[in-house]
Amino acid sequence: MSSLIKFNTHTLIKCCKSIFKLKNILLLLFAVLVVISILLNIFFPLPKHINYSQIVLSADSTVIHSYLNKDDKWRMKTELHEITPLLRKAIIHKEDRFFYYHSGVNYFAVIRALFNNIISGKRTSGASTITMQVARLLEPKKRTYFNKIIEMYRAVQLENEYTKDEILQLYLNLVPYGGNIEGVKAASILYFEKSPNHLSLAELTALSIIPNRPNSLVLGKDNAEIVKQRNKWLKRFMKAKLFPKQQIEDAINEPLTAFRHEAPKDAPQYCYRMKKRFSRLPIIHTHLDNRKQQKIQKIVKNYIDRLYGKNIKNAAVLVIDNQTNSVISYIGSADFYNTEDAGQVDGVEAIRSPGSTLKPLAYGMAFDKGIITPQLKITDVPINFSGYEPSNYDEKFHGYVTAEYALINSLNIVAVKILHQLGIQNFISSLKKMNFTRIGKDEKKLGLSAILGGCGVSLEQLTTMYHSFAKGGKFTALNWLKRDSISGGFNVISAASAYMLTEILSKVKRPDLPTEWQNSADLPKVAWKTGTSYGRKDAWSIGYNKNYTIGVWVGNFSSEGVQEMSGATTASPLLFEIFNTVDYRSEAEWYDAPDDVKFRLICSETGLPPADFCQNITSDAYIPLISNSQICEHLKNVFISADSTVSYCKGCMPQQGYIKALYPNYLPEMITYYKVNQIQFDTIPPHNPNCEVLFSGNKPFISSPANNVDYYVDKTDTTEILLSCNAANDVSQVFWYINDRFLQAGKPEDNIFFKPQSGRIKISCTDDKGRNTNILINVKMIDF
Ligand SMILES: [Zn+2]
Ligand SMILES: [Zn+2]
Repeated sequence: MSSLIKFNTHTLIKCCKSIFKLKNILLLLFAVLVVISILLNIFFPLPKHINYSQIVLSADSTVIHSYLNKDDKWRMKTELHEITPLLRKAIIHKEDRFFYYHSGVNYFAVIRALFNNIISGKRTSGASTITMQVARLLEPKKRTYFNKIIEMYRAVQLENEYTKDEILQLYLNLVPYGGNIEGVKAASILYFEKSPNHLSLAELTALSIIPNRPNSLVLGKDNAEIVKQRNKWLKRFMKAKLFPKQQIEDAINEPLTAFRHEAPKDAPQYCYRMKKRFSRLPIIHTHLDNRKQQKIQKIVKNYIDRLYGKNIKNAAVLVIDNQTNSVISYIGSADFYNTEDAGQVDGVEAIRSPGSTLKPLAYGMAFDKGIITPQLKITDVPINFSGYEPSNYDEKFHGYVTAEYALINSLNIVAVKILHQLGIQNFISSLKKMNFTRIGKDEKKLGLSAILGGCGVSLEQLTTMYHSFAKGGKFTALNWLKRDSISGGFNVISAASAYMLTEILSKVKRPDLPTEWQNSADLPKVAWKTGTSYGRKDAWSIGYNKNYTIGVWVGNFSSEGVQEMSGATTASPLLFEIFNTVDYRSEAEWYDAPDDVKFRLICSETGLPPADFCQNITSDAYIPLISNSQICEHLKNVFISADSTVSYCKGCMPQQGYIKALYPNYLPEMITYYKVNQIQFDTIPPHNPNCEVLFSGNKPFISSPANNVDYYVDKTDTTEILLSCNAANDVSQVFWYINDRFLQAGKPEDNIFFKPQSGRIKISCTDDKGRNTNILINVKMIDF
């Protein structure tokens, strides 16, 4: 008994030992397998890189442009959502019915194939799963038994790495379609001009049979044979009850008219730019609205065709959707395929002179600094900024004008004056913040003339700036890709200022009205501004409302100027043709005044809050605590003799026999302007000749020459320097001195000349009240 127990115990221990051994062996085997698979993965990694041809998609996911891949093949990436249940079912039924049940290799099929091959002595059945086909397409190899084993190993690797859907996606992206077409998406686009998710059952079945014989089943050439093969498969689908009977019958009866189309080539400059910028993306999803793009491209082409006879040969347009901050149309040139007129140039990015299109920014910034309000009066008269004398487009001066009038009529002198007060540095730094790159580079070279176009900008930069006006002054970078959701940004001008600017810019007279008055209810309201560059090389017109911001440039890429060209006459008709098309029957509401804009009564003589004597009262927008709130002084009280022949100051006023009268209180430069132009105005009688009081304030302003400036004078020449000044209303005579030596007396508005000597020269101007101004100039004699 004890021996039995002993024996049993012994056997049990032995048994346990061998089980333990077996377990160890199995564990060891498992460990070895794991190590081998890790090593295999390290030394034979899955080839993952697939060389796609880049495609650019419009907002509705249509392929609008495609580029050959690096191997000169059309292999466009099919996205998961494009593999519809219809496509998936048909492919799986046809290629690998057990796709969802095996792990890369269908061993049953492999054994069956091996058996069949041995019996028949030749290869009959491939037994390749979709996963194994992917492995072969990734690494094409000769069909040998050894390579089949590698394929099987790769298939297992693929199944470990990807989901079933991703493996099917790889398969559909790699299958050959003959010639240089690979993958179902490229085939679908190039033969049916649609994405795979829009294919009918007949179309996708036709496409699914081509990879079996890509060189003998060519769509467009062998359509009859393809229909035969297609219907064979459709009947099999019917037998397997894969799809509803009626659907399959319709597919069998569907004619096949497919042939190879050109690859899509819309919006060429835009798409090329996107391809360069997002070179790593196989699919570039953009916001471009291709219907609008095509329409606008046609409008631009027709428009330039009409202007071609006038030697105006190109145009560019950028349309921004203000709701999404995205580019929805981008016309780089009138005709991309016109090589003679450089149609390939991208006019949206090209650097050109902006003409007057930067003026609204200066006005907007000046509203925010309290320098101006829309109805504030500013003088539009000759002015000299250290030798720089701007003139107006119409070569005229307009005297006192409101800021609003000056912006609507694009007066140059007022714009330069505003920029001068604002400070060119502040202005440039705002532009730099808005990505005006060329202005940033040229910063040190730029002067006051920048506001009149003396700088370089692109249509894109300008349109983006106006987009910020449309968005209440807030600058936001543009959204190019669908995945982008750029928000934030910064206020380049305040919402209050943007509102005032928009109100002014919407009052500019439109070229499409009143001729289109019968449709005017359907036409969108637009705030807009034009620009014409120096030498009439560029015509600009940029407009916006709540829906869109549209920028238009018209000109020649050769930079040839055209006498008839101007922003108003050449670019604006195109702007409105586009705006009226894109935003016809616009439902956009117009802008409401933001909370920080208030309205106040002002005197129309100056645009300032009225004094007791102000009679013409009107109203104006302003920003409380910021806008200039000085009380109007358009008139001033003067003591004069009863016969109005002598004026007095407090110091020389007689005890009696005088009266108090109101006289216009013009700025000295306006008095000169009125006198030069012989415009009558109420002059104050000459001051009491017996007065001994020394006057202060309102001393003459020397408008020429400029203070502290070097003057280069030709040695051999008899160049003379102009002396001119602006004096106060009560001045009838001024006296000029050169280096403290009396030169000449004259009326304040007289132009006086003198021949300078070399070196530093002190110039003095004294008025008949004894108020004196000195300036210094440096004269250098040069051999020209
Ligand atoms: Zn007034
Ligand atoms: Zn006096």
